[in-house]
Amino acid sequence: MATVAGVAVETGHWIGGERVASAGGSASAPQPTFTDVSPIDERPLAEIARGGARDAEAAVEAARRAFPAWARTGREERARLLHAIADGVEKRIEELAQVETADNGALIRSHRRGVMPRVAHNFRFFADWLLKLGHQDFETRGHTNHVSWDPAGVCALITPWNAPLMLATWKIAPALAAGNTVVLKPAEWTPLTASLLAGITAEAGLPDGVFNVVQGYGAEVGGPLTAHPDVKRISFTGSVPTARIIAASAAPNLTPLSLELGGKSPLIVFADADLDLAVDLAVEQYDNAGQVCLAATRLLVESSIADEFTRRFVEKAGRIKQGDPREETTDIGPQIHRRHLERVDGFVQRAKAAGARALIGGGPNDELGGLYYRPTLFTDAPENAEILTEEVFGPVLTLQTFDTEDQAVAMANGTRFGLAATLATGDPERARRVTGQLVAGTVWVNCFFVRDLQAPFGGARQSGVGREGGDWSFDFYCDLKNTVTAPWAR
Ligand code: NAD
Repeated sequence: MATVAGVAVETGHWIGGERVASAGGSASAPQPTFTDVSPIDERPLAEIARGGARDAEAAVEAARRAFPAWARTGREERARLLHAIADGVEKRIEELAQVETADNGALIRSHRRGVMPRVAHNFRFFADWLLKLGHQDFETRGHTNHVSWDPAGVCALITPWNAPLMLATWKIAPALAAGNTVVLKPAEWTPLTASLLAGITAEAGLPDGVFNVVQGYGAEVGGPLTAHPDVKRISFTGSVPTARIIAASAAPNLTPLSLELGGKSPLIVFADADLDLAVDLAVEQYDNAGQVCLAATRLLVESSIADEFTRRFVEKAGRIKQGDPREETTDIGPQIHRRHLERVDGFVQRAKAAGARALIGGGPNDELGGLYYRPTLFTDAPENAEILTEEVFGPVLTLQTFDTEDQAVAMANGTRFGLAATLATGDPERARRVTGQLVAGTVWVNCFFVRDLQAPFGGARQSGVGREGGDWSFDFYCDLKNTVTAPWAR
């Protein structure tokens, strides 16, 4: 047990309805714990169970045993329990917000007012969706077709640190609603709110073993989890290199995968756009200190307005208040971890060496010290420079100009990613033409980040495989079955 931001947090795994220490004895997890550090001041927060193969095995076994009864539980009862979990989350919004902010350094104000209420909403949405899931039976030459969504079994869910509880519950809620049991492996840099959620599910009355959490490093506990033959679905949100490892690990069992990966998304600003809106949208890309998969990090601006856009952008970005995320007035906080800050800085220094010019930022925030990195905007990056093609996952944007719509589309589509694209234009016809040509899972026109859980969410190209949201989530977490019945003899 640790106390973080005044909240008691269990530090063990959550397996079969019990808090357990690491099983140990695993060559891949030689120490029983690892130290979780806060990005706010790099001080230790807790010693967390360091999972290995035996812990993954125990969690899958607990989930496998719990599966038949949970799969048979009626839809109404499953939905009721998910709403009870949402009630538990809502009762603890402040605690969850405080702990998440201490653990991942994102803003307390967005955790309080946006993120944690949406965590509760994730459970309510999929509970309600479950109750209306289904389509009309249909006939083929007098035979009835009936489609059903049968739960698949044990689902391994592996999640990143940038929005820990939010992204985990996008997966947990539909997986449980569909009648599956779950083993969650949260990111090692942000293990805490998953542990709090385990307590909330128990209080809500979720049967033992239906939801399990194993803590630890990806290779040590995530590896054995994704290779396990009793795991029937793997849903992963994280980076492309890890996705490749997980896909290879899943291959021998042909375990179906959902992959939500990185991006290098564009914001295209046409000369006919509302310039104030376009600048607001561009500066918003520094949110969460740039640690957002969907961030439109490539600003593509029509040449005729580029100078004015840049002037207004620099002026507005200069007003961003960087600092302690626990303060309500802070706009952006720190990077998640020293290793991550160094990675971000590596991109920035290589961009400079390649000839790109930093109009703002370009290094750590020396006044604040610690893990604070200054919002950075590059121009004049040479064509195909790494900074224009690779995901930095920090507060680093690039600005490029274009002269024609075709050029804008080609530039927007010119990476190996396809997660999202945003465009700012005052012309609805242009919006239709351009959006039709963009390769992206989500396209926003004159807005950003608006998402409805009933819409499909995911990435094209190397930004992902599969879609989540509404029916798409149930399609993934279930074995769909069509039952064709001949006419009954009279
Ligand atoms: P990561 O790939 O390093 O880690 C993600 C998770 O995978 C962690 O829990 C980690 O422990 C686990 N992991 C690592 N190696 C593993 C292995 N061998 N086997 C099993 N699990 C393993 O990613 P990250 O740095 O935590 O997150 C940042 C990345 O996530 C960025 O690329 C970002 O774009 C992406 N992301 C995507 C979305 C989306 O919805 N598309 C959302 C958020 C973040």
